[in-house]
Order: sequence, then structure tokens, then C-alpha cells
Amino acid sequence: MNELVWINGDVSPLADAKVGVEDRGYQFADGVYEVIRLYDGRPFTLREHLERLEKSSAGIRMALPMSVAALSAEILQFVTRTKVRDGMIYLQATRGCSARNHVFPKNCPPTVLFYARHLSPLPAPGEGPGARLHTVPDERWKRCWVKSIALLANVLAKNEAVEAGADEAVFVEDDPKLGRIVSECSASNLFVVKGGRVVTAPVGPKVLPGITRLVLAQVAKQSGVEFVERPVRLDEALAADEVFITSTTREISWVGTWDGKTVGNGRCGPVTLRLHQALRERIPSETSSLVGAA
Ligand code: PLP
Repeated sequence: MNELVWINGDVSPLADAKVGVEDRGYQFADGVYEVIRLYDGRPFTLREHLERLEKSSAGIRMALPMSVAALSAEILQFVTRTKVRDGMIYLQATRGCSARNHVFPKNCPPTVLFYARHLSPLPAPGEGPGARLHTVPDERWKRCWVKSIALLANVLAKNEAVEAGADEAVFVEDDPKLGRIVSECSASNLFVVKGGRVVTAPVGPKVLPGITRLVLAQVAKQSGVEFVERPVRLDEALAADEVFITSTTREISWVGTWDGKTVGNGRCGPVTLRLHQALRERIPSETSSLVGAA
């Protein structure tokens, strides 16, 4: 495959690359990450991803070793060297390699790495089978706005969903005032559509500020679709006209079933379709130009 990886400024074959056994990412999941989409060899919404990375790093009190601008230039240069045209960049920054100790090490440079990976083309908006959701209790920490590499609760939830014959797990929690509320999924944000209005939970303790969610909010505004951020109850979500989920790798997936029950009329709804088409139209203008990449 000849895949390459960039680690702290050096590019080497991915298969030969090494990270220390005492890297804090490996021992404590002490790090943050990003998944950035590549369309036709160009990263999509790169600046937004790197700004979120900076916020996630600040959220775990870790200073990145380089600025967003410098990291962006490295990524753009790397992209010209990989053969991957349509796929993703996986980027991870950990607190570095140091003798195992819960206390933050001093003068320990973070380990920053990224590589590109091919992804199969997605179905056209509205096509393909609907996603199948499965409800799970939310056992995650309260800083889900940090894109942390500590994903064990998400991994267990997703596997529970797959074992139940579904594709994605939806986290549900009991709110003392509102009852059962849904926040997001194991690897995607969640949206319900009722009466033409899109409703989604606000970002915060239990919701990652998804970059696709951000773009979706913008295209909804431009398309004249009302976009509301407020807690979403499970019962209203199950009674929605349409439900869809978003992420960098899936863009928008319409939801066909939830806990085995059909959502809406069991087809991709008109609002979901319109927003997905609008999102696709944004791709050419939002992909970072490689012109000027050193
Ligand atoms: N929520 C969670 C928990 C995720 O892991 C992800 C993506 O991995 C998302 C939401 C969607 O975020 P984005 O649109 O930036 O990919």
C-alpha cells in the first residue's frame, strides 16, 4: 500500500513507524484527534478542524507544538505526497512520551502524527439504505466537546449497536426535568426534523461540536430551513418526521429505523435530502487549495 505517516515533522512508511511504549496516548489515552475529509486530494474544512483541535488540546491542558497555520501547511504538503485522493486524514496529538506518571510531565514534547486513508465513495444524497440506530445509556465523561482519543465508552456502545443489528448507537440520559434525552451518537451528531424544522442538542458536556454539524447549520440557514439547538427528548425523536446523523466520514446519513421501529415513512425525507444536497454543493468551495503549499 505504501502508506505514509507524518510524525513530529518526519515522514516515513506507516508500516515502519514507531511511537514509544510510554507515549501517554498509549498508556492514558492522554490526547486528542481529528478526522478530516479529503475530496479529490483536497482537505475539506481544514481550518475548522484545526481550530477544533486547538480547543480540544486546550481542554486537556496540552499545548500543541505548532500553530494551526504551520500544521495546516504540513498537512497540505503531505497531501501532495500521498496517493489518497478521496478519503480522510487521521490526526492525533498526545502529551508525548515520558516515564509513566499520572502527573503531567515537564518539558515533554507532544507526539503529533497524521496519515491519509482511502474511503469508498458515499451514496448520492437520499440513496443507499437508511441507518439503523440503537439506544444505549450514556456512560461517557462530561467533556464530550473535547475530541479525546479516550473512546472506550463510544467503542463499547457502537459494538452493542452492531450486535443488536444496528449501525450506530444513540446515547440517552435521564434529565431530572425533561425525562429521557438524546444527545448524539457514538461517532456522529444526531438531528430530528419535525414540521420542516431541524432540532439538535446543543454542543457541550455531552455533544461534540461536529464540523459537519457546523456546516449543516450554515447550509440550513442558507436554504431557509429553521435550525434549533435545544435538548431533544427521546419520545419526540422517535415521533419525528425525519431523523439524520452527520459526521466527516458519512456526511449525512438518513435514519431508517431506531430500536427496530421505522422512522417517519421509512424513506429519506425531503429536508434531509435538501440539506445533504446543499452540503455537497459546499464541497468545492470549502476544500483547501494546495496552491502555495510548500
Ligand atoms: N460526535 C462524535 C462522538 C464523534 O465521534 C463524531 C465524529 O467522529 C461526531 C460527533 C461528528 O463530528 P464531525 O462532523 O466533526 O466528524
